[in-house]
Amino acid sequence: MTRLVNNPEDFPAEAVQGFVLANKRYVKPVFGGVVRSTATDQGKVAVVYGGGSGHYPAFAGWVGHGFADGAVCGNIFSSPSGAQAYSVMKAAERGAGVLMGFGNYAGDVLHFGQAIERLRAEGIQADTLVVTDDIASGGKDEIEKRRGIAGDFPTFKIAGAAAEAGKDFEEVKRVFAKANDATRSFGVAFSGCTLPGAKEPLFTVPEGKMGVGLGIHGEPGVRDADLGTADDVAKTLVDGLLDDRPAEAGTRVIAIVNGLGDTKYEELFVTCRNIVQRLEDAGLELVDVESGEFVTSLDMAGISLTLVWVDDELLDYWNAPCDTPAYRKGSVGEVARDDTAMNTEAAPVEVTGKGSAESQELAGHIATALHTIAALLHDEQDDLGKLDSVAGDGDHGQGMAMGATAAAVAADDLVKQGAGAQTTLAAAGDAWSNGSGGTSGALWGALLTAIGSVLGDQAPAAEDAIQQGLSAALEAVQRLGGAQVGDKTMVDALAPLVETFSSTEGDLPTRARAAVEAAQQGAESTKEMKARLGRARPLGEKSIGTADPGAVSLAHIAKALADQLSAS
Ligand code: ADP
Ligand code: MG
Repeated sequence: MTRLVNNPEDFPAEAVQGFVLANKRYVKPVFGGVVRSTATDQGKVAVVYGGGSGHYPAFAGWVGHGFADGAVCGNIFSSPSGAQAYSVMKAAERGAGVLMGFGNYAGDVLHFGQAIERLRAEGIQADTLVVTDDIASGGKDEIEKRRGIAGDFPTFKIAGAAAEAGKDFEEVKRVFAKANDATRSFGVAFSGCTLPGAKEPLFTVPEGKMGVGLGIHGEPGVRDADLGTADDVAKTLVDGLLDDRPAEAGTRVIAIVNGLGDTKYEELFVTCRNIVQRLEDAGLELVDVESGEFVTSLDMAGISLTLVWVDDELLDYWNAPCDTPAYRKGSVGEVARDDTAMNTEAAPVEVTGKGSAESQELAGHIATALHTIAALLHDEQDDLGKLDSVAGDGDHGQGMAMGATAAAVAADDLVKQGAGAQTTLAAAGDAWSNGSGGTSGALWGALLTAIGSVLGDQAPAAEDAIQQGLSAALEAVQRLGGAQVGDKTMVDALAPLVETFSSTEGDLPTRARAAVEAAQQGAESTKEMKARLGRARPLGEKSIGTADPGAVSLAHIAKALADQLSAS
């Protein structure tokens, strides 16, 4: 339960504001997150870490000398937008390239990928560092699909130390990849977490049980097991990791016992004691042990164990000094300040060319439709969140509502400036993606932009504009997300919608009604499917029997728009 909250929608931004006030020695705000408030030499590779909020000290707590140059701070559990990531990465960059580290979540992959494309287009070297430490989220044969959890901490620390040591872009990437290959995590949850403002936790664990293989976004464990004693839990964690030890593992390890947010330090210590004993009994040499909170999941009760199998090189980087709000090692000495104020607002969209009269009128209808969608999604927010919490992370309702609201506000602004349909939809798409985070935000952003590119800013809407727009929307979603029908995503509602709209004869309302029915059936059909993509994939089995949230929200939106069309 989050008790100290004003307007829940403001919670993540207000948390960053307070964090900055309390840590001016280390950080200053920039649009999208924070960067160091200490001086960094030109020619140093910049490392920026990020993802959704709700994981403190990850990621902002690690910004400082010897660790990160900046952190991108998204909404709770949802990915920051491409524009936010771009802003922080650009602010941190010092002429030697910038690396963006994150935990392998679909929304982060899409948004950070967009930011990197943009930086590269400007001639800045940029790439990703993707953490895949969670052994519960994928088999040994698909390690690259695993998600990142508490392994973020040591792998990012090690990469940050390599960058601070003056290593070049490729070398920092190599050191990070080596650290990630050497890192494994496994965790258990005792209770779910509650999003600020929500009344119910995202999932619950039955009394006396634990969810084995927790995620850090309120994804429940992959299976329930009896809780047992602290030593039993230690055994589960140690056995799980030793069974998954990396191919070339030596005998020296760093062990990190991590509390998820609502597990007391004393409980962690009791478990840590037995973990260390078991690891030593297994013949491992513990070169360092940490026990505390490193990567949390709001108020979730749970514990995870991370092991890093180190050689001299990784150990040297791990031991290198750092000084950040949440983690210190050795002494970094005197560090000069850089208090230059950064831009903390998103760059405003300015309309350069006005749309034709017809296109301006169409843009007005588009803004109205976006308000309809935003109102609908606010009403459906809780139900969509619940659907998403079965096998996903529970943020779909909140993300969609925030994205659609931002899109409607942006469209109003563009309409006032005399923009045509394409410009309005492009700005609305960006705003949706920025406002929502999450995979669905990036996909809806691309969907709106694609429809806009069919409509243009000048031409009166062609007879078959809706059909062409819908086809372009489907194509954009599939190009960006790579989903096919049957993968249990919004494509399972969108594809039949587009197909039925084009094959149905009759007037517009008739075709729209048929298309909506097809979308609803498509969404319903996802109940039987097992998630193969996105955040629900690790919990694929659990997703059977529950409809895909993205498909359901798409069908709701289609219905609301078709109703509006019939009424007008
Ligand atoms: P996140 O998964 O990042 O938390 P949301 O919860 O807002 O984002 O959205 C989840 C929805 O996004 C899923 O229910 C699914 O419909 C859709 N989705 C996820 N991945 C893809 C993909 N690769 N292609 C199409 N849709 C996807
Ligand atoms: Mg989600």
